[in-house]
Amino acid sequence: MVAKGLLSTDHPVQAQLIPMRRCNLSCTYCSEFDDFSDPVPLEELYRRIDKLAELGTTVVVISGGEPLLHPELDDVIRRIRSHGIICGLITNGYLLVPERIQRLNRTGLDHLQISIDNVQPDDVSVKSLKVLDRKLQWLKEHADFHVNINSVIGAGVKNQWDALTVAKRALEMGFSSTVGIIHDSAGQLKPLAEDAQAVFQQTSKLVKRSYARLNGFQNNIAQGKPNHWRCRAGARFLYICEHGLVHYCSQQRGFPGIPLLEYTKADIQREFLTQKACAPVCTVSCVHQTSLMDFWRAPQTGESHATVGGAQCECTSRNQDDLVQIGLGTSIGSSIETVTK
Ligand code: SF4
Ligand code: SF4
Repeated sequence: MVAKGLLSTDHPVQAQLIPMRRCNLSCTYCSEFDDFSDPVPLEELYRRIDKLAELGTTVVVISGGEPLLHPELDDVIRRIRSHGIICGLITNGYLLVPERIQRLNRTGLDHLQISIDNVQPDDVSVKSLKVLDRKLQWLKEHADFHVNINSVIGAGVKNQWDALTVAKRALEMGFSSTVGIIHDSAGQLKPLAEDAQAVFQQTSKLVKRSYARLNGFQNNIAQGKPNHWRCRAGARFLYICEHGLVHYCSQQRGFPGIPLLEYTKADIQREFLTQKACAPVCTVSCVHQTSLMDFWRAPQTGESHATVGGAQCECTSRNQDDLVQIGLGTSIGSSIETVTK
């Protein structure tokens, strides 16, 4: 993946694909779901996947909403794999049972990620270890694909130490583990509180291998310090919403807002060289990770048209809260890279 990425800069490394905005849960910090939308029709998803293949995309990560609610998800994964594209899935895990996991095995899925927010369910999130531990056991018993468990610290989390408990449980079961931070103001960095800092440091040590590449970026975020980097969103990373538009990322929807089916190499080249005003305070580590291989080349001379907070578009933040979740550690893309080495 890295070799292909280094050779040329005019293809996406990772695309996040939304087949369904609806979710069966309603975490209060989340701005990426609704409770009413229909699944995107399979034929439409096929067209989008084929287009991503034509653009030379290396990894497609299916997200949502809750993608397991899509009745034809297995066909979606198969179509991605039929192009030789690495496929990841981000789910809340609630719908996983042994039979569903075995069906996912048969699709050729490469990687699955579940975020566990606490040990006991609370009024912010019911994605708790108490509820999901049985699912983890089923995954350990049945999954042929790589599993990553993401835990969270920061604002809105009642017990910061829960993240360490979740990370330990994930490693104990043979999964990889990452930690994310929930900040209390969208796009604005603030240092973590003392107890969250302590948990961050201990969890980082625990999952050291996963953290090796991104320590600087992660540590700066935890301390509320800006990062200086070249965001290649719109080029190396594409966020494809349920309406089939290309956006920079989940936090900057509306830019560039071009239909994927009309997206060209020229769009990729332009966005590759376009500065993103939101980059210094960015907390979206998967984009940072996919941008890393281009860090030392091609200074960005194009003027940014994204500002902190983003623009509105049809799919933007129906349930916007003042919390924003960010991922730290190994994102799905590099986990896949590790697994496939
Ligand atoms: S965080 Fe995930 S599980 Fe929770 S509401 Fe959002 S999409 Fe659904
Ligand atoms: S929020 Fe981060 S990933 Fe998204 S466009 Fe801005 S800098 Fe890039």
